[in-house]
Order: sequence, then structure tokens, then C-alpha cells
Amino acid sequence: MRIAVAGGTGFVGQALVKALLERRDEVWIISRSGRGQNSPVGKGLHYVTWSELAEHPQKLEGIDAIINLAGESINQRWTAQAKQRILSSRLTATARIAQIVQALKGKPKVVVNASGISAYGLSTTETFDEYSPTAVTDFLSEVVKQWEKAADAIKVERLIKLRVGVVLNKTGGAFPLMALPYKLFGGGRMGSGQQWISWIHLEDIVRLIIFCVDQPNVSGPVNASAPEPVTNDSFGRAIGKAMHRPHWFPVPAFIMKAAVGELATLLLDGQRALPRVALDNGFTFRYPTVESAMQHMYNKS
Ligand code: NDP
Repeated sequence: MRIAVAGGTGFVGQALVKALLERRDEVWIISRSGRGQNSPVGKGLHYVTWSELAEHPQKLEGIDAIINLAGESINQRWTAQAKQRILSSRLTATARIAQIVQALKGKPKVVVNASGISAYGLSTTETFDEYSPTAVTDFLSEVVKQWEKAADAIKVERLIKLRVGVVLNKTGGAFPLMALPYKLFGGGRMGSGQQWISWIHLEDIVRLIIFCVDQPNVSGPVNASAPEPVTNDSFGRAIGKAMHRPHWFPVPAFIMKAAVGELATLLLDGQRALPRVALDNGFTFRYPTVESAMQHMYNKS
């Protein structure tokens, strides 16, 4: 297949592109800067910039699928300017995908547009799946609401709104930061510890994205989160166990807020989301439990 990946240079994107090339897909990475000095090269791998596509969208003529993972990182202090960049980068990238699709004579059959599990808002008591109503309770859920609305302008047979949970990998994303206190023997629950973490192993999100591309029946919102979300307290215990470190030093919410500001909500709040669409369509998670994910990250990789 010919597949375009916007944000293919990022944390999830790099792993996805590698997997697509391994199965001999032709991959077009859409990025702001094109192919740089240190960019990976490989048979079947091409680079194109957003500005090139704005002028010549036909460069993607004949593309079978587009996966859009582009957006400013949320792992930074949420100043007013950072929040603006977090929101506008996603809306702009999504609008550009809609324009590219509109300009193509042969439309791709499927677009997988990233979104977030924050779509359901924050809750310590409720459980959500793709049939649950969305809600706006905080900054990220507002971002997701606007992001998914922008995605509705992408007119293809199958538009998938991939509601991504916390992606786990030892060397990227939010996990190294979550594991750091344990490395320093200072790990413990954060805030009440009762907040939910809907997480997914990097390998599984890559497999799930490819599954969404390949399965003709999958469409609409898809939760990219493992079938067993955990509370922050259980998550911490699992990290401690895998790293052979104690889970004993609770970090009060006010300290986290003082240290990183509103970004602390990423660790202090959450939601319990289940991957109903993936499971109902026959997707199997290689790492369904947090223990299996930790075991893979610490014992086998
Ligand atoms: P990254 O932070 O690695 O970013 C992906 C790519 O977005 C970058 O490689 C970059 O590509 C592009 N990008 C960065 N800043 C901007 C900007 N200001 N304007 C336009 N493009 C920009 O993302 P992840 O791989 O971690 O996540 C992929 C998607 O999944 C994101 O949309 C993210 O919001 C979502 N998600 C991820 C979660 C996670 O745990 N990782 C959790 C929930 C949602 P380039 O430089 O080539 O243009």
C-alpha cells in the first residue's frame, strides 16, 4: 500500500513508519521540514513537506491511506502560548489533511486522524468506550473536541478518530518521566492515586493503527488504549515492581502543580476508557495488562 504519515518523525510515528516499511508499504512522511540530515532513509520511504503539499497535493495522488499524528508536544509547561500552539498545530494539520484529500482525484479509502482519550473528559468513577458521550472538563478535552470537529472535514469512506491513551515505551513519550522518581528510589502515588490511566504499549498502538488501515469495517472513534486501564497507584506499583524499586513516597497534588503548573493534570487526573471497537473487531493486544507491558519494557527489551 501507499501510506502517508503526518508526524511520522515523532514518537509514535517513527515506530509506525518502521513497521509499515517492514511490511513493504511505500511510506510518505509529511513533515514541516522534509528530509533532514539525520532522517532515516530506506527503500520505499519518501519525505514531503506541508508547504510542498499545499502547492502540489497531487504528489500524494494514488495514496491508499493517510495517518495524521502531527501536533505540538503536550509535554511542556502549559503557558498561554504553549496552549495556543498545542491547539492550533492540531487544527492546522487536520485542516491541511482535509484540503489534501479534497484536492486528490483518487481519494484515500481511509484516514486515521489522531485524537485523545481526553475526549470523554476527566472522571474517577465512570468507564467510557467509543459509544459514551464526549465531554469537556479541562484544556485537553477542549482541544480534542475541536480537533475531532476539524477532522469531520476530511471526506473519505472511512475516517478513524484514534483516541490515543498514554503511550508506553521506555525511551519516549511520558513514561520515562513517570518512571524517573522510581529510578531515584522516590516513587509513589501521585495526588490521590485514584485517578485512572488509560495506557497502551507503543507496539500495540502501532499494530492498532495498521489494523485500522487494513480492516474495512473499522470507522469512527477508536480508543487506542489497553483493555485494562489502571489507577495511578496501581500503575506506580507496577513500575516499582518491574524496576525493583519501592513504591512508597506519595507526591501531593499541590507540589506537582507548583512544579509544572497545569501540565500536572496529565498525571493527577484521568479517565478509564476501554477499547471496545478494537476488541469487537477482533484486535488482540500483545500487552493487555500493565504488568505485561512493564515486563516487556524491563525484562525483554
Ligand atoms: P510527537 O510529540 O512525537 O509529535 C509528532 C509530530 O508532530 C512531530 O514529529 C512533528 O513532526 C509534528 N509537530 C510537532 N510540533 C508541531 C507543530 N507545532 N506544528 C505542526 N506539527 C508539529 O507526538 P506523538 O508521536 O507522541 O503522538 C502522536 C499523536 O498522538 C499526537 O497528535 C498526540 O497528541 C497524540 N497523543 C499521543 C499520546 C502519547 O502518549 N504519545 C497520548 C495522547 C495523544 P515534524 O517535525 O516532522 O513536522
